[in-house]
Amino acid sequence: MFEQAKKLINDSSTIYVVGHIGPDGDSIGSAFGMCLALRKMGKKSNVIMQNYSDSFSFLPGINEAVKTVEEDSYDLLICVDSSDEKRLDISLEDFNKAKKKLMIDHHKQVRSYGDVNCIDTELPAASEIVYNFLNYLSVDIDKTIGMYIYTGLMTDTGSFNYSSTKSSTLRAVANLVEIGVDFSYICDRLNHTLKEAKLKLIAKTIENMEVYFDGKFRYSYVPYSEIYKLGLDEEDAEGMTNYLRLPEGTEVAVYVRGKSDGTNKVSMRSGGKVDVSQIAIQFGGGGHVRAAGYTMKEDIEKEKQELINIIGGKFKC
Ligand code: AMP
Ligand code: MN
Ligand code: MN
Repeated sequence: MFEQAKKLINDSSTIYVVGHIGPDGDSIGSAFGMCLALRKMGKKSNVIMQNYSDSFSFLPGINEAVKTVEEDSYDLLICVDSSDEKRLDISLEDFNKAKKKLMIDHHKQVRSYGDVNCIDTELPAASEIVYNFLNYLSVDIDKTIGMYIYTGLMTDTGSFNYSSTKSSTLRAVANLVEIGVDFSYICDRLNHTLKEAKLKLIAKTIENMEVYFDGKFRYSYVPYSEIYKLGLDEEDAEGMTNYLRLPEGTEVAVYVRGKSDGTNKVSMRSGGKVDVSQIAIQFGGGGHVRAAGYTMKEDIEKEKQELINIIGGKFKC
């Protein structure tokens, strides 16, 4: 899988790495893990990222990400953790400046958009593909690179609890622990530290929760005005769906949040019986069986009703 990707890198000197908009731990982890390794290989490399949640600010060097490409053209763009080129955290202009593109992803694919595509839908995180790739390239994975890769593995596997976690993921973790990655610190920062405003958003999400189909489906909508009032930015307003899934008997949970641009971001989680990626694809989004999303652009009440009907239909099957 990595032979052609290695050749692309060997033939390139200036390489940018980009993840998806609203970057999560896997997007950040795989992008920086890749970029830092490329620098070790003597390449000129940077991560392109527009914004990130404060909760990731403990990661060393994360503030060195750039927003734009300064060159008129560059050799290679490595796109990580995004199955959709339209969701990449880069302007179309800068995207088109790349002579070649390498895609590294683990989502259920809609279509490949790279010149070379390293896709493994069996792996729980793009960071695990990057980890394997770095080993293939014989890069020395140091503590900082390890910290990023670990962050990606941990966040996309729900701290190694989701069934998507593979024995290979845990072997990678064992190796990262061996080189001294402070996993306990990363867990503390990402799982056990919260802004007070975010705690209030959890309360709001639960307050707005609607329950359907005998508790099998839970839905909550938080308008942008509430998020703005709490002083939270877009990235901080993520992650509420997991709370909606907690009550016993819940099979599908959906959290919809208003965005500053007037659209609404839909975040879906499933216990596994319902494939939410199928539903997200129907609405123009994507994702995985247990975690998927899309954007509600139009009438939120109408789209909500459509969603409820589709999900209700799944429970009847
Ligand atoms: P989230 O609920 O934002 O954590 O997203 C869950 C999963 O759904 C992630 O793997 C995303 O890649 C995917 N996803 C979310 N929103 C979209 C979208 N608009 N288009 C395609 N995939 C999405
Ligand atoms: Mn992601
Ligand atoms: Mn991912």
